[in-house]
Formats: sequence, C-alpha cells, structure tokens
Amino acid sequence: MHGYVDCHCHISAGDFDKDVEEVIENSKKAGLLALLAVAEHSREFEKIIELSQRFPGFIFPCLGVHPVQEVSPEQQRGACLQDLDAALPIIEKYKDQLVAIGEVGLDFTPRYVRSDTDKENQRLVLIRQAQIAKELDLPLNVHSRSAGRPTIQLLKEQGVRKVLLHAFDGKPSVAMEGVKAGYFFSIPPSIIRSEQKQKLVKQLPLENICLETDSPALGPEKQVRNEPKNICVSAEYISKIKGVSLEKVMEVTTQNALQLFPKLKAAIRP
Ligand SMILES: [Zn+2]
Repeated sequence: MHGYVDCHCHISAGDFDKDVEEVIENSKKAGLLALLAVAEHSREFEKIIELSQRFPGFIFPCLGVHPVQEVSPEQQRGACLQDLDAALPIIEKYKDQLVAIGEVGLDFTPRYVRSDTDKENQRLVLIRQAQIAKELDLPLNVHSRSAGRPTIQLLKEQGVRKVLLHAFDGKPSVAMEGVKAGYFFSIPPSIIRSEQKQKLVKQLPLENICLETDSPALGPEKQVRNEPKNICVSAEYISKIKGVSLEKVMEVTTQNALQLFPKLKAAIRP
C-alpha cells in the first residue's frame, strides 16, 4: 500500500478539461493511489460520474450540494433546500457508486450570510444531506468556513459518525472536539503558507489526519492551479511538523482514508 489518497479534489473543474489525462498521469507518478472527486452542485454530478468511469479504480465519486452556490461566475449565494431538488434524484441513481456525500457543509463568510435565515437555510441543506449519508451508510466530505464550531456541533447533534473535515479553518481547540467524535481532518498543500493549518496539524493526532489537494484551489502557491500531484507537498510538510518520516505519514494517512472510505479498498490492496 505504497502511496497517497487525495481525499478531496475538484477534478471535474473546467480548469482540467484540456489536460485531465496528463494531470492524472502526473499524480500517479507523484505516488497517488486514488482521488475522491467531490461536487459543488448538481450540474456537475454526471461529469463526476463520467470521470470515475473513465478512470476506474482511481477516481472515486462523491456527490453533494456545497453550502455556497453560484448564481453566475461573479455572484454567489448560500445554499437553500431548493438546491437539493435536482441533486437528490441523481444521488439516488448513483448511490451504489458513491464513496461519500460531498462536498457539503456550512460557510458563514459574511458575504454569503446576510441574515439568520441564510444560516438556517445552510443548516437545513446540511441536515438533509447528513440524513441521506446515514441512510446510505456513507461518510460526509465536509466544508466549513468561518463555521468550524457550528459545523462540528451540527454533525454531532445529527449523530453523524463518519466525517472528513476538509481544509478546516477553525481553531485547534475546536478541531479537537471533532477528534473526540472520531472525525478526520484533511490537509491541503496550502499548509506551507498557512500558519493556521500548521498550528492545526501540530495539535491533531496523526491518526485523525488525511491528505487532500482541493485542486484546483489551495495549492502551494496562491493563484497557481493546484493539481493532485501536489499531495506530496502536504505529506512532506506534515512529516516535518510531526517529526516523523514521510513513509509514516503516507502509511497512516492512507490507512485513515481506507478506514473512513472503505469502498477505496476495492482499488487499494495492501
Ligand atoms: Zn472543495
């Protein structure tokens, strides 16, 4: 089981339309074994399923509705229950192929939540998707921004047990509440330029850490397209902070990913 798992990646993003084949090839050369392709809205669901069929045993699909929805490239708003109308039938259709429900979560960045109603709408969307994940016995691939504490609290209240908190931006003390609940945290390559993520990794036990790239976002360099091959940037930085070998980081984070996403075992054999 020599290699990495990218637990959160937007490989369906238009940024990869021209060279996805090469991007995947390069990620394999960098040691990637598998990649979880997460969705933001129902219009990209079919594309994600197609990609998972084009790269079987390597790209694994996750479908879900992100807390921030795009009205137009310039305009975004918080998610509401109506956004689930188009999404739920497609999730139902492909439920057996999914490795997780995601990307879901809460984003309380002020420009997306102008009132308490906006927050409440995001909560309702997350609660509904948490219920679906429980019904399908799937983990949740979770986004939280300016909402670390409310996200973990809501997931606990809903009795959700299998959770990946991606690119968590909250305090380490809040993250430890998630650790107590058995949740995992995935660390993107942007850790090399984020003091907050460095502090987070210092506190988190390696047994609760996974790797991600969130490509094309959260790369080692701002404004440069991030790619799944940069998974090793996260791993190397974690190995430095934790003072353990790169080999150990690879082994433990991949074990963690397999524990949280058991369907990956079909692709990754020891
Ligand atoms: Zn994401």
